[in-house]
Amino acid sequence: MKTLTRNAYAKVNLALDVLRRREDGYHDVCMIMQNLSLYDTLTFTVEEADTLTITLACDKAFVPCDARNLIYKAIALMGETYHLTGHVHVELVKRIPVEAGMAGGSTDCAAAFHAMRELYGLDVSDQELMKLGVKLGADVPYCIMRGTALAQGIGEKLSQLPPMVKCPVLIAKPSVSVSTKFVYQNLKLDENTKHPDIDALISAIKKKDFPEICGKMGNVVESVTIPNYPVIAEIKEKMMEAGAAHAMMSGSGPTVFGLFEDEETAQRARDVMKASGLARQVYLTSIYNNRRK
Ligand code: ATP
Repeated sequence: MKTLTRNAYAKVNLALDVLRRREDGYHDVCMIMQNLSLYDTLTFTVEEADTLTITLACDKAFVPCDARNLIYKAIALMGETYHLTGHVHVELVKRIPVEAGMAGGSTDCAAAFHAMRELYGLDVSDQELMKLGVKLGADVPYCIMRGTALAQGIGEKLSQLPPMVKCPVLIAKPSVSVSTKFVYQNLKLDENTKHPDIDALISAIKKKDFPEICGKMGNVVESVTIPNYPVIAEIKEKMMEAGAAHAMMSGSGPTVFGLFEDEETAQRARDVMKASGLARQVYLTSIYNNRRK
């Protein structure tokens, strides 16, 4: 029997721009992705067997533990592609908020690809894993790569960027549920759309200029979520009042994250946010830059 434990890190989008709707219904995007030190923990055990079987257990009852789970899908896809056999069991400790715009499922999926490669001693490159990963979700290739990255195409064309300035990050997720499909279907791109200046953000990241980074961040899909879920704007405002250098929605929401210059202000802001009752989940975390070993 072999055992392996891996952490799967959450992400936020320092910028999210949508360029166009494609013929196939997907959207071409341009995003800056960044990991946070908030993570799920996955423990894998493999026992010999004639066929491939998969079981999954999670400490949170609302996470599906069957073939709908992206961990299950990643193991099944690895099994099919590389003709693997054995009984794989995964214990998932879920800390990343679910349906939050923080790629919780995608990062678990990426961790499963890496763990399977290691457990079975497969000679497969990260690039190959990313090609498989995009079949399961547009954010999966980034989660396989990690760190600070520019993502284009549907999110699968990745370029690594220099690491983002490390700072405290406050996460606040309101109790509303936001469907990614609803957000993209209702996104209107016209001459009035305020697009973030991603080139300027990249140069600010390269210069490690924190105020400039904060000034250039932006998320185009807030134009859909904020009018429909005003609590997102209220959380942003509250975080800014509490001293955030910048506060913005991650992905298609509804989680808001705030970047802070110092830990003390961030801790006070966490208490303010908890007391406000605007968010159901509030966590203080930080930028995480370690790429995969
Ligand atoms: P993204 O930022 O990539 O849009 P998200 O934060 O919006 O992700 P997830 O937390 O990944 O969304 O979960 C979306 C749905 O996926 C959940 O409702 C859940 O049923 C399903 N799911 C599948 N695998 C997982 C997993 N490993 N962890 C959490 N949810 C999962």
